Amino acid sequence: MEKIGKRFEGKVAIVTASTQGIGFSIAQRLGLEGASVVVSSRRQNNVDEAVEKLKARGIEVLGVVCHVSNAQQRKNLIDKTVQKYGKIDVVVSNAAVNPSVDAILASKEAVLDKLWEINVKAAILLLQDAAPHLQKGSSVIFISSVTGYQPPSALAMYGVTKTALLGLTKALAAEMAPDTRVNCVAPGFVPTRFADFLTNNDEIRKGIEEKTLLNRLGTTEDMAAATAFLASDDASYITGETIVVAGGTPSRL
Ligand code: NAP
Repeated sequence: MEKIGKRFEGKVAIVTASTQGIGFSIAQRLGLEGASVVVSSRRQNNVDEAVEKLKARGIEVLGVVCHVSNAQQRKNLIDKTVQKYGKIDVVVSNAAVNPSVDAILASKEAVLDKLWEINVKAAILLLQDAAPHLQKGSSVIFISSVTGYQPPSALAMYGVTKTALLGLTKALAAEMAPDTRVNCVAPGFVPTRFADFLTNNDEIRKGIEEKTLLNRLGTTEDMAAATAFLASDDASYITGETIVVAGGTPSRL
């Protein structure tokens, strides 16, 4: 990893929900490529731990507690970033929840609200706070999911919120052009805490692997590599797009 290029030298990147899993790997990848990275999540001890791990890899990092549905904490995340680094070049919106495995028609209103709040609305509100500080040539990446194309039963309404991010990518790409590119990564299944109710079950895991042309689950590093590409100048003529990183799992044409 230390031998990777340095596409983010002099850049400032915020990654939400980044103290473990896919978000942490994205922060680490951007940091190893030279970015000053701002990591955040709900719990101070998780933030502190992530900061220490990234510092140990020689990465310039700031840690801020931010529950993405808390307006004050979102504002504080942006304020602290700008106070320390003066600008924002990359925002990766990665936070999501799946509070229930209920069918959509059996979902409680509070569950529907929470899914919308965290998976979609908080991403928009964070960008409203970040927008005044985004530089010319900046980049926004949403983390959607392959379930956004074909919502499976245990992830049905969650999948629909991930479909919304595909639309949000298109709409904001138009709204934020030409200075800011807006793109999206749709991961397949990755064994993280978020997905362990699926990937820890041998039968379900085998079923997923069998539907995956590359015959394995994804890694957090696979997602970080695609995100770093879209955030970098290597993707400077790409906006409003989604890259599916799912090993060939059925998704779209
Ligand atoms: P994960 O390993 O469980 O990590 C979740 C991270 O989010 C932790 O750092 C957690 O820290 C933080 N977090 C949780 N709720 C938060 C909130 N409300 N506000 C701020 N931070 C919060 O999850 P993951 O699998 O990497 O998932 C990351 C993204 O990838 C999500 O958008 C998910 O939908 C997407 N995705 C995952 C998969 C998969 O198979 N894993 C597949 C497709 C898409 P704290 O506990 O300290 O808050």
